[in-house]
Amino acid sequence: MNLIFLGPPGAGKGTQAKILADRFGYRQISTGDILRANVREGTPLGLEAKPIMASGGLVPDDLMIRMIERELEKPGRLIFDGFPRTVAQAEALDALLARKHASAVAVLFAVDLNVLLERLIGRWTHVASGRTYHQKFAPPKTAGIDDVTGEPLVQRPDDKEETIRTRLAVYKDQTAPLIGYYDNPADPRLVMVDALAPIDAVTAQLVGLINEGAGAGGARV
Ligand code: ADP
Ligand code: AMP
Repeated sequence: MNLIFLGPPGAGKGTQAKILADRFGYRQISTGDILRANVREGTPLGLEAKPIMASGGLVPDDLMIRMIERELEKPGRLIFDGFPRTVAQAEALDALLARKHASAVAVLFAVDLNVLLERLIGRWTHVASGRTYHQKFAPPKTAGIDDVTGEPLVQRPDDKEETIRTRLAVYKDQTAPLIGYYDNPADPRLVMVDALAPIDAVTAQLVGLINEGAGAGGARV
């Protein structure tokens, strides 16, 4: 079963995608991580995406859809983390999956928007792997250092208050409509986790959904 992680920035999608990738062998497709790698490498995509990401806006759909098309050429059970973010992206993903005779269940990370600022402002990232920590909720063993590689952690330039507010507004406007898209009574394929819970408890909910084969019979919120 492929999974689409849906929820606002800071809901915990990347954290859980990495845990499930380690435990169950899912391949995490984080469009944000792929874009950041392109920005670091200075590719044409990175040059186009950089100012958009810095402002908290969305990179154009056609570029994102082409990125996902390339990712889908590789094998594996997938977790889509940060894609789709617009209805146009969701429609394109459905078409691409259908071409592969594959499907996906959307998992909504339900969270109070007022916890997100604290989560994002306290987030520290290991650039090369995309691993994230939180200074209060998931601290590294040594402050500022990645547990696995010993390399330094950084704060994302878009994790500052002003940009976070823009990203949340963009989420409400462009991405939240996907909840209705996936919770379609004719073809329900949305399940929900309580993403306000501590990290381990969210993982437990996801493991429960995976074990039940969430969505196989059209699980509803
Ligand atoms: P997203 O990928 O949805 O933007 P992240 O997984 O990067 O969000 O999580 C945002 C921040 O919140 C990170 O610093 C992470 O360590 C922390 N975090 C993730 N899940 C939880 C949780 N359930 N409770 C508290 N903090 C969390
Ligand atoms: P994320 O790492 O998911 O928080 O994404 C960081 C930034 O990358 C977003 O604020 C957008 O600017 C861009 N981005 C990531 N995924 C997408 C997407 N599916 N569509 C458009 N822009 C995206």
